[in-house]
Amino acid sequence: MIRIGLVGVGKIAHDQHIPALAADARYQLTAAASRSLPDLGAVPVFHDIETMLAEGPELDAVAMCTPPQARRETALAALRAGKHVFLEKPPGATVSEVAELAATARAQGVVLFTSWHSRFAVGVSAAKAWLAARPVRKVAIEWREDVRRWHPGQTWIWQAGGLGVFDPAINALSILTEILPTEVFVTDARLQVPENVQSPVAAHVDMTDLHGATITADLDFLQTGPQTWDLTAWTDDGVLKLSLGGAVLEIDGKVVETGENREYPGLYDRFAQLIERGESEVDVRPLTLVADAFLVGTRELVEAFIE
Ligand code: NAP
Repeated sequence: MIRIGLVGVGKIAHDQHIPALAADARYQLTAAASRSLPDLGAVPVFHDIETMLAEGPELDAVAMCTPPQARRETALAALRAGKHVFLEKPPGATVSEVAELAATARAQGVVLFTSWHSRFAVGVSAAKAWLAARPVRKVAIEWREDVRRWHPGQTWIWQAGGLGVFDPAINALSILTEILPTEVFVTDARLQVPENVQSPVAAHVDMTDLHGATITADLDFLQTGPQTWDLTAWTDDGVLKLSLGGAVLEIDGKVVETGENREYPGLYDRFAQLIERGESEVDVRPLTLVADAFLVGTRELVEAFIE
């Protein structure tokens, strides 16, 4: 039994972590730390991780469900206390702080898991297997969603370190880096930043891989109506399309994989396996692509974002 604590009980903790933990007999949700002290029934809730670790019940692991800007301090506290750590995506507000977390986990002999939930979407492993044998010529990502619908009141998204439209789009980059057989590189980017915030509301990113494939990402945080989370890859041998964030896989227009959403049960299964094996899984490639887009991207100031 893995006694686990949650830190930052907001939307994703309520929507996904708590149900996934309740459905997995290997875990016991033993405590939580969240400043607003949400009512979690019999589970004791503390104001912050330090109090949870000092005064709460014994824990084996902690899952960080805070926004990225609050990730480093809380993760370090858990690792230094000898707990295995599950990091929500993105694993940090910077790429380099994840190296510090990985080194601390190694020194403490505990497991660090940088989770990327979209890699556990139904169609992703079959997409990876299909692409492994076929040179990819072109990839187009279209990630367009309505921030007002999916992220109401989440002001952290617009602050420095909050990623803006890359908060959802990093999911596409996590799928891209999982299914392509070679490394991916950013070559250019255009970022549209509302004049009253720090993070982009829309972006276009140009990328390539070791074979020179043309890879583009078109990202928009203001799409109303139908929402789009698509990745299409063209090969000499057919066209692969992942839609609904990886939940549906089509090859040449025919659905070959779809099914119920098991992303978070899949993540907690992987975390339990890593703990059993005593192995960390640390992958910062999606965050590196975002950081590179911010490094080389030209910025255009656009109309203020008012929620
Ligand atoms: P959220 O609803 O804002 O919840 C995060 C919680 O963290 C807050 O309720 C807050 O609870 C706590 N917190 C601690 N420090 C904070 C700070 N400096 N600013 C704001 N809140 C702080 O956000 P979320 O949607 O759950 O997202 C959390 C993480 O999960 C993000 O990295 C996001 O990318 C990832 N994620 C979100 C979704 C989604 O659909 N929403 C999906 C997958 C992954 P207290 O005030 O009680 O401390």
